Amino acid sequence: MDEKIKEVKKQKVVRYIFKNQRLFQLINKVKLWPSRSGTLHGVKSLENRGKTMVVTTHCGESFVAWDSKNSRSARWLRNRWCKNPCKKCKIPEWKLTKYSQTVFTDARK
Ligand SMILES: [Zn+2]
Repeated sequence: MDEKIKEVKKQKVVRYIFKNQRLFQLINKVKLWPSRSGTLHGVKSLENRGKTMVVTTHCGESFVAWDSKNSRSARWLRNRWCKNPCKKCKIPEWKLTKYSQTVFTDARK
């Protein structure tokens, strides 16, 4: 086998995230936030406030979001509808790769 291909295969770690989780847990794992404008932001901090949560992005935005597993952001995150990473957030390449390889699954253990 070609050395290069071997290298790529080694790096490919598939991460599984259960779909039916609360948004908080979802964001807490991927550390990414899909904005309505289609930009993907890096999450700097996340604060659990029960039914809502406070999201702070690396580019300095801070806002309150509903913690629901069926919210827009949860859907956008699962479906990977945000294609443009925020330039100000400077999301590292490995994080985007990890996100793109993440499998959102229905399966329960
Ligand atoms: Zn940003």
